[in-house]
Amino acid sequence: QAKNEGGDRFRFYSREMDRVAQERVSLETAMREALATGQFHLHYQPQVGGDGNALYGVEALLRWDHPELGPIAPMRFIPVAEECGIIRELSLWVLEHACAQMARWRRDGVQVPRVSVNMSALNFRDGQLASQIQQTLARHQLSADDLTLEITESVMLDPDPEVLDNIEAIYVMGVRLSLDDFGTGYSSLSHLHRLPIYELKLDQSFVHDIESSAIARTLISSVLRIGESLGMKVVAEGVETPSQRDFLIEQGFPVLQGFLFSEPLAADALAAWWQAGSA
Ligand code: C2E
Ligand code: MG
Ligand code: MG
Ligand code: MG
Repeated sequence: QAKNEGGDRFRFYSREMDRVAQERVSLETAMREALATGQFHLHYQPQVGGDGNALYGVEALLRWDHPELGPIAPMRFIPVAEECGIIRELSLWVLEHACAQMARWRRDGVQVPRVSVNMSALNFRDGQLASQIQQTLARHQLSADDLTLEITESVMLDPDPEVLDNIEAIYVMGVRLSLDDFGTGYSSLSHLHRLPIYELKLDQSFVHDIESSAIARTLISSVLRIGESLGMKVVAEGVETPSQRDFLIEQGFPVLQGFLFSEPLAADALAAWWQAGSA
């Protein structure tokens, strides 16, 4: 009896694993098709100066509208793209399109100071990354300080020598590195000073808890002080309410990002949003 139950359970798990594996494979196929047929596009979320109404920059966020399945969230397909290796092409696609858009804004006189692009840890294992970034910037007549790369802590923990070479080359080029989702990983502090990190992005979860948690508020001001004492710019993301904003401004955060200011927008909508607000 027990043995049978065990057998059933095993079959259940194995079917479940099949289903997950199949979803992976079909997502992979769908992503290749999406790249080939233009189903991906970028949205841009403004990052505003904490002191006034200056636009500090925008973060490019990948969007996928599947013709049958509808929109698929990055949290669902980015991990699969990392597993199957298609993240390499996908990140280059994002880089190319974000830079092309920056160049278009420049040409149209829309004053977007810089664009941030999210990179996966795996991209830093690619020996070509730094030169591909340089070529992309040159192709669009952009300079290194028009671009910021957002990385996560896993990049810093990767012992692959290729990773350090890329980081070094990118730093020398003058492209800024931003450490995304800061405060959620481990050994954050001990690794901070080892790499040329220009900017820290405080993880959204801290901002979310500002009203409800005195500990969150204490941690937030500590992260700001630590970042600043290391010469880094500290960005707060996930700002949704005026009271979160007020607390962060009072603490002295130089840059804020979140739905309170704007959700991620298509390029045209972003330019309209900015021009309407600054007029
Ligand atoms: P992330 O880089 O930390 O991006 C911030 C995420 O928070 C975005 O979700 C954004 O839409 C969302 N967000 C912004 N403001 C608020 C707010 O006030 N409240 C809340 N609750 N959320 C807010 P999104 O676009 O779904 O992206 C999720 C994650 O997927 C990103 O987190 C990033 O890790 C990854 N991702 C997105 N685009 C790319 C990409 O082009 N390349 C790579 N490698 N990863 C990407
Ligand atoms: Mg990011
Ligand atoms: Mg983040
Ligand atoms: Mg993230």
